[in-house]
Amino acid sequence: MLEILRRIVQEVNGARSLDAALSIIVRRIRKAMQTDVCSVYLRDDERDCFILMDTIGLNASAIGQVTLKPGEGLVGLVGQREEPLNIEEAPSHSHFRYFAETGEERYSSFLGVPIIHQRRVLGVLVVQQREKRQFGEGEEAFLITMAAQLAGVLVHALSTGALARLSDTGTQALLNGIAAAPGMAIGEAFVVVPSANLEAVPERVPDDIEAEVLRLREAIDCVRHDIRQAAERLASRISAQEQALFDVYQQMLGDAALGNEVEKRIREGQWAPYALSRVVQRHVNYLERVDDNYLRERAADIRDLGRRVLAHLQKDSNARKPVYPERTILVGDEISAAQLGEIPREKLAGLVALRGSSTSHVAILARAMGIPAVMGMNDLPISRLAGTPMIVDGYRGRLILRPQPDLLVRYESMIEEEKALTSMLESEQSLPSETSDGFRIRLMINTGLAVEMSGSPAARIDGVGLYRTEVPFMMHQRFPSEKEQTRIYREQLQGFAPLPVVMRTLDIGGDKSLPYFPIEEDNPFLGWRGIRVTLDHPEVLMVQLRAMLRAAEGLDNLRILLPMITSVEEVDTVSRLLDRAIQEMRDDGVQIERPLLGVMLEVPAVIYQLEALASRVDFFSVGSNDLIQYLLAVDRNNARVSALYDALQPAVLRALDHIARESRRLNVSASVCGELAGDPIGALLLMGMGYRVLSMNAPNLSRVRAAIRRVSMEGAQGLVSDVLALHSLTETRELVYQRMKEWELAHLLPPRD
Ligand code: PEP
Ligand code: MG
Repeated sequence: MLEILRRIVQEVNGARSLDAALSIIVRRIRKAMQTDVCSVYLRDDERDCFILMDTIGLNASAIGQVTLKPGEGLVGLVGQREEPLNIEEAPSHSHFRYFAETGEERYSSFLGVPIIHQRRVLGVLVVQQREKRQFGEGEEAFLITMAAQLAGVLVHALSTGALARLSDTGTQALLNGIAAAPGMAIGEAFVVVPSANLEAVPERVPDDIEAEVLRLREAIDCVRHDIRQAAERLASRISAQEQALFDVYQQMLGDAALGNEVEKRIREGQWAPYALSRVVQRHVNYLERVDDNYLRERAADIRDLGRRVLAHLQKDSNARKPVYPERTILVGDEISAAQLGEIPREKLAGLVALRGSSTSHVAILARAMGIPAVMGMNDLPISRLAGTPMIVDGYRGRLILRPQPDLLVRYESMIEEEKALTSMLESEQSLPSETSDGFRIRLMINTGLAVEMSGSPAARIDGVGLYRTEVPFMMHQRFPSEKEQTRIYREQLQGFAPLPVVMRTLDIGGDKSLPYFPIEEDNPFLGWRGIRVTLDHPEVLMVQLRAMLRAAEGLDNLRILLPMITSVEEVDTVSRLLDRAIQEMRDDGVQIERPLLGVMLEVPAVIYQLEALASRVDFFSVGSNDLIQYLLAVDRNNARVSALYDALQPAVLRALDHIARESRRLNVSASVCGELAGDPIGALLLMGMGYRVLSMNAPNLSRVRAAIRRVSMEGAQGLVSDVLALHSLTETRELVYQRMKEWELAHLLPPRD
């Protein structure tokens, strides 16, 4: 069964269109389950109904004609209840609805299961049989498994707009991912393609068909040449049988095989890379399905050859300068900082990535540059998106493909309103961040990139609350040397002097890895992260500490912060290393005082060790991003569960309140440098709890300052005591938003539904 399931899903995955996918689904399932009928109904949100999309067994003329509202008929009932329905005699069921065009009356037994993706019913899968019988437990389980697996594939196909022909209202598709950088943008997709990835080639129409054919032939010739050379190089070291494989490769590349087929597609209007990828995919799909090990292995050969030809084609096409749309939305599997840098800033409107998270390097960069970004769009068929109009909503983590006029107008006006608000708030940037009853909150910024320094306007800030040193490390091809680090840190310290700069020691691991120091783990967030890595590599840590100390000479504004601290031993060890580094510096003649040392509070274990930590360090900095994810056991970068990640969860608020109280009692300064500090609601709650230092991304400063200036400390404290009395997220949210409205601050909040 497992093998059948795997094969069907694989085949559906490789289908060229939604129609082809549905046709495979109904045929294969009917065959596997040996039933008389298999049908698939898909939900059309616009019309709020389920439509018969394909069937094998019912009359084909019923396709596209039979529609059922949720709760209507057996199919509608399955869709509404979101659970399987297994009945022996369907026509006598109270919900049975007869459609003459289906010829359904012949079938007695009925088994329907919902197709659900991320809690949303996409459709219903049905099998029927003439004979009056209850489908067995095993059959039901098979169909449920099938539907669960197909959901991911179908959501793919649906997002391409294939369902559009069912409704005359258009082809808009709405997809949810991870909100990685705030803001909204309307633009056109520019797909960045990882080199030689057959699955990610965008569809395009060639300008000149003959030139395209020529390009293909040249690429194939190059690969033939490479293979001949490889065969010659290996001639003395491989067997005759293995040599023969090279001949097979040459044959596969021959005109009569791959070459011809690809050429034909080019002449039909596809550009060479896409035509090649489709032909290779088709052969691979076919070979992978055959019950013959030898042939199945040939699938890998074809794929390999395809990649080689593609690499040559891309070399060529890379040589041509890409033309970026006026408002480019960069779309890619995984976008690198380098790709981001290639686009002229004035043309870059937004960013969409299949992988990546809110903490990935490119997300940090996007936030610093003020570019809205959505990531974790796992199910997005990027290869077909080039040139597609779209809206990126970086507040809600949403992407809208081919938006319809009414939505477009709505977003245009939201973007305008936001612009107006930003320029209005800009004027307050030089005013103190003081509550209406005179309490001053120190606002600091999070940095790591040169752009932040050049980009931070005349805003009044109190220094850098978090300098993420891993960012300059990511920019290098190897660990930066002590000298290089000293130069980078000096620039940062000098740029903000005399204001304090809190430099965090290297925080890699989790989802932040260095290209030259990859960390592969099953559970990276519970693994080798932050201080755990640098304590295991004291040579890296010592170089970094020495570079920081040397960079601070004569400036005296350096503070050092340790990430991912779990135990006091870790602090003691770093503290000893720091003393040693200071001594070494002094021996070198560098005049340096011991900088203030702090720990990040991001592992829940430290909440219960505040007293012991307080006796060892000078300050605490709450890393709310990690603290929340560890408290709630929610990977904030996993799109499936990221909706559960919420700072307003009562447990999170209690933990933050406890830290604030304890720090006060222990007389240790506590600041917050996670994203929560840069959110107006978060900032007011933190301020009410007693935090007096908040560090955030520079673009958030204006809203947070505006919120602080419009509320009294008494009001914020009142809000905190009110929310702490609540037990659920829903109640908390309601109360908080209500209070924001009363304080006339709703306009400062990110838009929500
Ligand atoms: C945090 O965890 O809140 C934090 C600021 O660190 P990072 O986001 O870099 O993990
Ligand atoms: Mg962290």
